[in-house]
Amino acid sequence: MSISRFNAIDTILNRPEADTGYFGTPSELVSEYFGVNVFNDEAMQKYLSEDAYLSVKAAIQSGSKLSREVADLVASAMKEWAMKQGASHYAHWFQPWTGKTAEKHDSFFTLDGNGKAIEEFGGKELAQQEPDGSSFPGGGLRSTFEARGYTAWDPSSPAFIFEVGEGKTLCIPTILVTYSGEAMDFKLPLLKSQTALENAALPIVNWFDQHATRVIVTLGWEQEYFLVDEALYNARPDLVLTGRTLIGKLATKGQQLEDHYFGSIPERVFGFMRDLEIECHRLGIPVRTRHNEVGPAQYELAPMFEEVNVAVDHNQLLMDLMDRMARRHHMRVLLHEKPFAGVNGSGKHNNWSVATNTGKNLLSPGEHPGKNLRFLTFFVNTVMAVREHADLLRASVAAASNDHRLGANEAPPAIVSVFIGSVMTEIFRQIESGETTKEDVKVVLDLLSKIPDLEMDNTDRNRTSPFAFTGNKFEVRMVGSQQNCSGPMTVLNTIMADQLNTFRREVEAQVAEGKERDAAILTVLKDYITKSKPILFEGDNYSEAWEAEAAKRNLSNDKTTPEALSAYVQQKTINLFGRVGVFTEKEAFYEVQLHKYHTTLEIESTTLEELCMNYVLPAAMDYQTRLASNMVQMQQAGFDGQHIEFASDVIKRISKNINAIHKLTEKMHEARHNAHHESNSQKAAMIYCHEVKPCMDQIRIHADDLELIVDDREWALVKYREMMYIR
Ligand code: ADP
Ligand code: MG
Repeated sequence: MSISRFNAIDTILNRPEADTGYFGTPSELVSEYFGVNVFNDEAMQKYLSEDAYLSVKAAIQSGSKLSREVADLVASAMKEWAMKQGASHYAHWFQPWTGKTAEKHDSFFTLDGNGKAIEEFGGKELAQQEPDGSSFPGGGLRSTFEARGYTAWDPSSPAFIFEVGEGKTLCIPTILVTYSGEAMDFKLPLLKSQTALENAALPIVNWFDQHATRVIVTLGWEQEYFLVDEALYNARPDLVLTGRTLIGKLATKGQQLEDHYFGSIPERVFGFMRDLEIECHRLGIPVRTRHNEVGPAQYELAPMFEEVNVAVDHNQLLMDLMDRMARRHHMRVLLHEKPFAGVNGSGKHNNWSVATNTGKNLLSPGEHPGKNLRFLTFFVNTVMAVREHADLLRASVAAASNDHRLGANEAPPAIVSVFIGSVMTEIFRQIESGETTKEDVKVVLDLLSKIPDLEMDNTDRNRTSPFAFTGNKFEVRMVGSQQNCSGPMTVLNTIMADQLNTFRREVEAQVAEGKERDAAILTVLKDYITKSKPILFEGDNYSEAWEAEAAKRNLSNDKTTPEALSAYVQQKTINLFGRVGVFTEKEAFYEVQLHKYHTTLEIESTTLEELCMNYVLPAAMDYQTRLASNMVQMQQAGFDGQHIEFASDVIKRISKNINAIHKLTEKMHEARHNAHHESNSQKAAMIYCHEVKPCMDQIRIHADDLELIVDDREWALVKYREMMYIR
């Protein structure tokens, strides 16, 4: 008799109401507690002398090195602030290539020379730590005898206090590097790419606006997720171990009725959202939007956009908070890209733009027609950058889990194309057909002056596009829900920086030959518009027609991670990263990602095998035995032929499925064995991709058919309908 599934349902039905309510204090205004757990500008002003405060600010803004004296002052201010808030420990908080965050806690408490207990935290502890010989993936960057990684403070992202129960820890955002300074994390390449883009954009911005002294890269992410009751979650070993269901028949009611999207939020989920938002606000994460998503039990949360580095940190922090908060509400948050087959997966749209420190969004057409050549410059260069490096952008979101979305006829496809909307399409057409004389610049500016309507263009935006212009920003829709946004953001910043450098050189060359600058800009942009045509696509990205058309246009369509990842180690990419000075560790990163890919599939396929052996096959065989004894008894009672037809047919169907699962499991086992003994990680990943994975898909079909026919009482694994509709 199946135990886990019915016990789980009983647990939910008998759970005290007090366990599912609100924990926070929703009566206060957000403005009263926003950022209380952040060592922000306000806290710095309060706890630092004016001189020290000004030098920290200056260093942060210019990205220059902080002196040891100033670091000491900041550390002491941080310690005072954090201890007043009740923090007992501090931790360097970093983002290794695992994709999760990591931290190592140390106590402020120590003994002085005389054995007296004191609280201590100085510039040295703030600036650098050595999280010992621990094993963060480095793809061969460290030989074992030099297995040291160092974390170093990133002053551009504010320190914060993380609360776990009664414990409070001062967390310091840091980078993780090897002894020789190579990145082993997501943050360092992101910071480098951000600086590269800022430096490439500023001189161009200054052609139009002399007042701007800094360019700021902005990111606003939208986080999708599923929520499942913890009792049901715990009764699904596949969810616990792999984050997704490896088998499970789709519930008879899926998303056909389209009644979930923007539907009213269930009471219990609302409690979770409220408490999560309170925690986010205390940590200075400016979340604003919440709603139901398309899939049953799927939701979304989005903040106001921020500077990219801080936005990434906030997203990483959020994912951690979501997990903790869901547990407090007796739920589990599923951040996996595809927890349920047949139901929409989860993504994380990355809204990206570039602005000036004078408050101008460079991707906003704006209200001043004269400024629109600036908009056009940044707009066209973005399109051109994607045109040049589409495969790298695709590689930056490649992961075993995201493969279930990309290229699987669900938003968005593995083919990278750019959607610009009808207004910009028309402007492109006109620019392309025009002359590029000085007179023509006027014509174009006139044309551009008519585009405040662009914001309206938002409404007819194309939801199937992987890279879409949405009025005043580009939206990268390929990012997976559990991914660190840094990967794609680093690539986007890098390709844009490189593109802008090229653009500037081309314009300057024409100006040197005597051409008027605006006319030179337009000439180059016109050339880019012509060149980038193949990457532009306004139609339905899910259609087969587009796949065929994209092939004709020579656009790549890497449906699987091992194929997509190879873009990282192509000569073109190596040259690019070298030129821009970002991410010299791409081979190591590539190795780590391949390793992660096949480890994920290894865990999934062994888990699936266990599920079949321990759950699916025993249940199927028990039911088969019951049917067989029913047949025998019926025959003994004198019933034959059509009277035992149903039992006999079902027995046959069960047998067929059981045998198929048995054979496929053996085949999968062998493929896994081969992959295990393959020393080349690219080849091993390919075996997982093209041999192990197809077996898993086949096994699933048979297991799901068994779920359909086997007696419900025999089925121990929690079903889709329960995970999606019981709350
Ligand atoms: P959607 O309809 O896709 O939810 P929204 O207009 O609500 O679109 O914006 C989604 C996200 O885009 C939000 O996180 C928002 O902060 C972000 N966003 C808006 N403007 C910018 C910008 N200039 N740079 C980066 N992100 C932005
Ligand atoms: Mg969006």
